[in-house]
Amino acid sequence: ESELEEEGDDVLQARPPVVTVMGHVDHGKTRLLDAIRKADVGGGEAGGITQHIGAYQVHTEHEGLERALTFIDTPGHEAFTAMRARGAQVTDIAILVVAADDGIMPQTIEALNHAQSANVPIVVAVNKIDKEGANPEKVRQQLTEFGLVSEEWGGDVMFVDVSAKNNVGISELLEAVLLTADAGLDLRANPDKDARGVAIEAKLDKGRGSVATVLIQSGTLRVGDAIVAGTAYGRVRAMHDENGDSVLEALPSRPVQVQGLSSVPRAGDNFIVVPEDRTARQIAEKREAAERNAQLAKARKRISLEEFTKALADGKVESLNLIIKGDVSGAVEALEESLMKIEVDDSVQLRILHRGVGAITESDVDLATIDNAIVIGFNVRPDVKARERAAREGIDIRFYNVIYNALDDIEASLKGMLKPEYEEVRSGVAEVREVFRSSKFGNIAGVIVRSGTITRNAKARVIREGVVVADGLAIESLRRFKDDVTEVKTDFEAGIGLGKHNDIQIGDEIETTEMVEKPRD
Ligand code: GDP
Repeated sequence: ESELEEEGDDVLQARPPVVTVMGHVDHGKTRLLDAIRKADVGGGEAGGITQHIGAYQVHTEHEGLERALTFIDTPGHEAFTAMRARGAQVTDIAILVVAADDGIMPQTIEALNHAQSANVPIVVAVNKIDKEGANPEKVRQQLTEFGLVSEEWGGDVMFVDVSAKNNVGISELLEAVLLTADAGLDLRANPDKDARGVAIEAKLDKGRGSVATVLIQSGTLRVGDAIVAGTAYGRVRAMHDENGDSVLEALPSRPVQVQGLSSVPRAGDNFIVVPEDRTARQIAEKREAAERNAQLAKARKRISLEEFTKALADGKVESLNLIIKGDVSGAVEALEESLMKIEVDDSVQLRILHRGVGAITESDVDLATIDNAIVIGFNVRPDVKARERAAREGIDIRFYNVIYNALDDIEASLKGMLKPEYEEVRSGVAEVREVFRSSKFGNIAGVIVRSGTITRNAKARVIREGVVVADGLAIESLRRFKDDVTEVKTDFEAGIGLGKHNDIQIGDEIETTEMVEKPRD
């Protein structure tokens, strides 16, 4: 947008909308992308071998004109949000796919929240209407609860019934996307300048070296241009489109596969054309340093609940953003409802960006990174990748197993009050590698301590695939080899007996907690 303001209206030309398809697994995203691609009325490249390059363009007839649309060929909100975390806003419109026989599912809502957080308008494709038991009206009904009200019902969201399998409703869907774009978005760019855009996908090819699909966002990219994409640089040696045809230039919203880069850029990296290829390298190096600094600065800026409380006392805060993940939907809903009832001063706002069931994932952490949110895990934990990313980005993840405690914490923070005097802290995490049967102690978990220290008088909980399956357990025995010990530190092996609790499996995590006095600030 800022770029549009900079340039005079006279140089701007309409560009096709860029569309991402999102939705729950198995609801037909991939099949829909195939059907859309086959619906192309342009070019008529019969016999052309279609290639997966990460994005493609199709043409459709709209109000008597042939119009183009660009589709990102990696469905799902994970890729979308990962690119956003790199600062790339690629998508203009999201198609939310919902299977008419299944109705809305957890990832439907996740996708919806991710699109809304990015301010991307949504068109709903109600898929699989060919199936017995399909109930497209129910999908409309269900989505009203999440603020998506169909036009037929007086809302402003277009719903289109489709069957990706039978190629039904595809041109209507493209029509709806164009109408939504024309109604609410000013999709224009200046083609008469050096290109800029975003890398969408890239790989190292045995014969061709680095091949990167880039989406042009403004300007025109030409063979021979010197470019920098993220920290990769080089001269464009050749460009190919999604039909494998070689092209010499690419206009705004066009995806092309580019050869000639020194290395493989990451999805979401911005690219620019530079005047000379010998400056490209310097820019790439500068970028690398700048990116590192920006990331550090961003990580430092992240707010924790404590910092939020302090900033609130200083009158410096606008909103507390939360992402809630829990083990069962009832708990998540109850927590959300109670949180929304907290009465706070008009100057602060509690915003729940996303809620869902299941372990905390990388895409939750990405969303928290973008919107500076705190993540609440109610009886759930992050998976390994999410944990690593959260640590790197400095995201505050809070774990609770009692709704009241979560409420208390957040309420205290929102009111800028002192916290309770005691809090539960995680003292150790161990991974179960073997399970033994002991006549005296019941099942014994043979573990290796992954972090912290496991102490004999701590309370324990068992976590399976990110979800807490048992809680508040006493540690009845803690041994190293044959010896009873009072504590076991990181990287050491031990045997843990949890008394009557016998449900322990290899791969479980045993997490221990202790109550400690909270520091007063
Ligand atoms: P994705 O996980 O959302 O990408 O889903 P897929 O595109 O892989 O589709 C999941 C399954 O649903 C596949 O077996 C598809 O063939 C099937 N499917 C997709 N669209 C339709 C449809 O319109 N009708 C029917 N009957 N099956 C469909």
